[in-house]
Amino acid sequence: MRPSACPGLLRIVPALDGGICRVKLARGELSAAQALAIADAIDERACGIADITNRANLQLRGVKRGHEEALVAALLQAGLGPSGPQDTMHAFADDVRNVMVSPTAGRDANALIDTSTIADDILTHLQSDKRFAALSPKFALLLDGGERLAMLDHPHDIWLSAMRAHPERDDVLFAFGLAGCPPVAAKHAGALAAVAPSDVAALAHALVHTFLDLAMPEHTRMRDLLAVHSVEHILAHVKSKTEIALLRDASIERWRRAPADPSLRLGAHRQRDERRSHVGGQPVLGRMNSATLRGLAQLAADNDDATLRMTPWQGVLLTDIDTTQVAATLQALDVLGLACNAQNPLTRVIACAGSAGCAKSLADTKADAMKLAACLPAHAQVHLSGCPRSCAAAHRAPYTLLAVAPGRYDLYHTHDPRDPTGFGRCLARGLTIDEAAGMLNHAALPPFDEPSDA
Ligand code: SF4
Repeated sequence: MRPSACPGLLRIVPALDGGICRVKLARGELSAAQALAIADAIDERACGIADITNRANLQLRGVKRGHEEALVAALLQAGLGPSGPQDTMHAFADDVRNVMVSPTAGRDANALIDTSTIADDILTHLQSDKRFAALSPKFALLLDGGERLAMLDHPHDIWLSAMRAHPERDDVLFAFGLAGCPPVAAKHAGALAAVAPSDVAALAHALVHTFLDLAMPEHTRMRDLLAVHSVEHILAHVKSKTEIALLRDASIERWRRAPADPSLRLGAHRQRDERRSHVGGQPVLGRMNSATLRGLAQLAADNDDATLRMTPWQGVLLTDIDTTQVAATLQALDVLGLACNAQNPLTRVIACAGSAGCAKSLADTKADAMKLAACLPAHAQVHLSGCPRSCAAAHRAPYTLLAVAPGRYDLYHTHDPRDPTGFGRCLARGLTIDEAAGMLNHAALPPFDEPSDA
């Protein structure tokens, strides 16, 4: 077992604005009843704020001293904790629940497969194997069904992505890789191998065991293991633990995933069944108060008790909205303060907790982001980060403002959301928000929307 400083549902860690409690949502989903339970809990036990994280989880901030136990009890009562007995392993079972799927899993007309059941199987495996208590709480898996709305640029310790094995046939396989992302462009590393959908959960289990078999105490993530073991050695170890057929050939290695379309996270879009739509919006800077949560819960309840789905863009998606209810749902989201249209600059700005909540932050990123949004040009997507840890984004935004002092930022630019160099090229140092807005509005700035595989 490992000590951890990461917040979890059962491990509330202190911050400037009180305790932080991270609620991991299976498949990013939150029922109306759970949203209400969180709204009540944060009003009573915290400062009334819930942030959506870039892993489609929730982070409750400002937990009051002395209220931790009651908050945790309320969340467990609402079914937001890990499965299994509430023993000493409970916190570790919570930590390992890091499986990301598309917010439109099971609903996307373009998906090759519905990943919901496989994701549940993987989560069950992860929570029930006590050995996995040795994993870092950051160890994470991506399960991609080929949806058009998908976050593909967050590196994962293990990624699994649906692929059509033979374009002329219907059979689907899952390509997989380690310490990275599904390949979209020619320059990206290809898949290591592929397995049948029925073998995906067992493969994930075997890969995690392989990691634990081979990792030394200082190796906490798959990238650490790859630094000291070859891929062939790791795959040979997997094969020694399982009967699963690992399919490897040139077509799997050459396979590239179809690009995703993140714009589908906003507004209304038809689902697979054509009669229903998913409708999405962005709370301001990914932050919801209890009133917003209650409003979203009501919307979900009014819609045949549908669930809310959090997105890795720090937004919310409602699925299964009847076509006749789409306009009313969009209007309701607007009233709740969610931006549902990419023209709204608040859909193109993200910021970490900043100096109001985090001792590491050199600036009040949230307040500065609001100031910047008021004068943001139409093309710009900007991430404001209080320090290089980049809590608000696991991918690279086209523009990053990295705090260097209160109200002062270095401006970075990249064309590549997976930029291995970090935030990209530094364009200017020590800018005020007004100066940064001026530069972003300047025609000479490089465009952000060049294809990343150019
Ligand atoms: S990015 Fe840095 S400053 Fe911002 S919340 Fe994370 S640790 Fe704090």
